[in-house]
Amino acid sequence: MSIGENVNALREQMAAAAKASGRAPGDILLVAATKTQAVDTIQQAVAAGVDACGENRVQELQEKEPQGAYTGVPLHFIGHLQKNKLKKVVGVCDLIQSVDSLVLAEEIARRSGELRITQDILIQVNIGADPAKFGIAPDELSMFLEKIAQLGNIKVRGLMTILPIEENSGCNRRLFCKMNKLFVDIKAKTYDNVSMDFLSMGMSGDFYAAILEGSNMIRVGTSIFGARDHI
Ligand SMILES: *Cc1c(COP(=O)(O)O)cnc(C)c1O
Repeated sequence: MSIGENVNALREQMAAAAKASGRAPGDILLVAATKTQAVDTIQQAVAAGVDACGENRVQELQEKEPQGAYTGVPLHFIGHLQKNKLKKVVGVCDLIQSVDSLVLAEEIARRSGELRITQDILIQVNIGADPAKFGIAPDELSMFLEKIAQLGNIKVRGLMTILPIEENSGCNRRLFCKMNKLFVDIKAKTYDNVSMDFLSMGMSGDFYAAILEGSNMIRVGTSIFGARDHI
């Protein structure tokens, strides 16, 4: 199947899940996870109508961005971001989905201050308490947001999570549900610089369940591009 056909098939499934959870197809954003993909391949996904591209590695971003890989859609950063590389991401990406520590948030705020911009970010939550995953622990989130609320030049637009790989689908739904509860709870509170617009969860294997549980932004690689050779 072509990338265009893959995206169309995905959109149909997304629409079904949206409907089943009482929402419209347009309420769910599709972010193409473009790691390891070539520039022309990524442009095919953009032409097929994905809502954004998400890149994992700073080096790939730096190589592909000047070649116009993401032209036409917003660019997100979805990988673990090291402090010493953030200058290449802040102000370049429209949304940094993977803010997983206060130090990183502070450094992003400092850099966006230098650039005189406001950087949109999501907070990555380690909802499965997976030692192999980055992210803020669920019970530390409100304290984290209180601290972030004091920083200038960044705006928290929502939450992101990556589930532990080995979980079965029943566990996934439970964790997605837990994540949605957190999202809804925080949305009901008011913090400066925080507006809970996006709940980014769900990948190729589990996006349907994620949408049923309230996700409004899915990050999909394999179902758009096919299996990757590595990672
Ligand atoms: C690779 C990746 C995805 C997409 O994974 P697939 O299973 O290929 O759809 C989503 N989110 C992040 C953070 C990723 O690194």
